[in-house]
Amino acid sequence: MSDAKQVKLKPGDTIGILGGGQLGRMLAMAAARLGLRCQIFSPDPDSPAFDVVLNATCAEYADVEALELFAGDVDVITYEFENVPSAAAMVLDARRPVLPNRKILETTQDRLAEKDFVTRLGIGTAAYADVTSVASLREAIVRIGLPAVLKTRRFGYDGKGQAIIREGDDIAKVWTSLATKSAILEAFVPFEREISVIAARSATGEVECFDVTENEHRDHILNISRAPAAIPEALAEEARSIAGKIANALDYVGVLAVEMFVLANGTGPKVLVNEIAPRVHNSGHWTLDGASVSQFEQHIRAIAGWPLGKPVRHGEIVTMTNLIGDEINDYEKWLSVPGATVHIYGKGAPRPGRKMGHVTEVRPPKGK
Ligand code: AMP
Repeated sequence: MSDAKQVKLKPGDTIGILGGGQLGRMLAMAAARLGLRCQIFSPDPDSPAFDVVLNATCAEYADVEALELFAGDVDVITYEFENVPSAAAMVLDARRPVLPNRKILETTQDRLAEKDFVTRLGIGTAAYADVTSVASLREAIVRIGLPAVLKTRRFGYDGKGQAIIREGDDIAKVWTSLATKSAILEAFVPFEREISVIAARSATGEVECFDVTENEHRDHILNISRAPAAIPEALAEEARSIAGKIANALDYVGVLAVEMFVLANGTGPKVLVNEIAPRVHNSGHWTLDGASVSQFEQHIRAIAGWPLGKPVRHGEIVTMTNLIGDEINDYEKWLSVPGATVHIYGKGAPRPGRKMGHVTEVRPPKGK
């Protein structure tokens, strides 16, 4: 079992990362700057993270022998995606510390378990109900009302595995279209804006949050993030304290993201938690060029047992624009934009909806 407090890496040590996407790639690049090596484990031979590390394991997550060899090569193990199969996490955890703790995956892989956990902490979420059949969906609609959002409990991302149900919709048809037996129904939140908090927690319980980020989605995919969010400081403080409370309750080590809705209500705006991502997050990419320590470096520091950074934002406003699908073809245009920093993930073909890169733009403080 992981004992986070035992981990104290030295420059030259090796971090094992499960998952070979852009998040793993950017984690490995941040680790390299701190003199740490990374070994990536991914079943996909075209993993963009393979390009930036010397050692990689290309094998299925069910391949116990490959997992054991991988564990033998590294000093600590982390992951860049939340759907790590629990059996794989268990095999690894018996051999090396896995951080964040694999138990966290059980909570964050399941929308119902996650919402129950957040609710137990006394933190607000949209009203929700467990749905296992068309009959229970009808009951949930009576309780929660419409419009509402039906989501699969597991494996949903970027709006996949979700359907909005409106007055007059054919309920049976919506249920069949989701092709699952375990879902949750959530009240549709008429949010004023969406925000997220990227928080880091060390093994000794220290928590550092980045500035609250405001997020705009397009076709359910994050399009633009802006930091700081244009919200009153008291609300930003509340959002950060919610993220800290969640990190503490999970005994979390590493970086996590908490996505929230800001709701305009009669007595002033309030926040509801939408989702927890137990990993570095797209809405924290602005920190790569917009803060003294990035979310990737914070995660590496936390799992290495090193002191967390105290991130200072570089500009008055920092924006991050995702380059999705064909938008990556504009990279030359972005390269010429003053103040812009271009990140290209080295993926193959730009399919629609595929995150291919991003651009950060730092606006200097007024008068500079
Ligand atoms: P999720 O996969 O839960 O992060 O949802 C993806 C996006 O769908 C969110 O960022 C929101 O824009 C929208 N969404 C999800 N749940 C709700 C909800 N209960 N009410 C309104 N919009 C939602």
